[in-house]
Amino acid sequence: MRSFTTFTLQYAHRFYGFGGEAQYLHGHTGTLTIEVEAPINEGVNMVFPCNEIKKTAWEVLRNFDHALILREDDPLLPAIQAVYKNQGIYDGTETNTNMGPAFKTTLAAAYPSCRIVVTKETMTVEGMIKIVYDLLKDKLNISKITFTSGDNGACENFVPLLMQELCPICGVELKENGRCPKCGYQNNKSIPE
Ligand SMILES: [Zn+2]
Ligand SMILES: [Zn+2]
Repeated sequence: MRSFTTFTLQYAHRFYGFGGEAQYLHGHTGTLTIEVEAPINEGVNMVFPCNEIKKTAWEVLRNFDHALILREDDPLLPAIQAVYKNQGIYDGTETNTNMGPAFKTTLAAAYPSCRIVVTKETMTVEGMIKIVYDLLKDKLNISKITFTSGDNGACENFVPLLMQELCPICGVELKENGRCPKCGYQNNKSIPE
């Protein structure tokens, strides 16, 4: 069975080098849906608790919310970084608190302190799906990602590859030592440390 959760992301971007109005900086409210597939965990009668999908994914995705997303070769990037630096907000402000850990993959790098995400490819809805899958594929057993932004949408199916052992009490993934990080449940396959 699959369980899924949906996120709303507000962001600004542009399609650098494309014709049409999308080459100008503009904003969207995007909706991202992540589906996770596994056999039903009999203890909790869930595939994976939705609030845990949300928590795990949001750690990464919050860096895209209220962010400026630019391609690495876009000349707007150094221009905006310079303005933020001059203004003294490049390294963060007290009120910029909705930040996940910075990340850098082959497809994207997040600079949470100034709410900029730099992408290798143009950040289309398809590009966003590739970035999100790459960031979360080792944490969630993803079977599908859907992203819509304005009138555009895209989705991709994935083969869920992770072999996760989930806690029978609260449904989160057990650590390598067989212990639940949330409730402390210990399976009997591993010897506790
Ligand atoms: Zn757009
Ligand atoms: Zn647990």
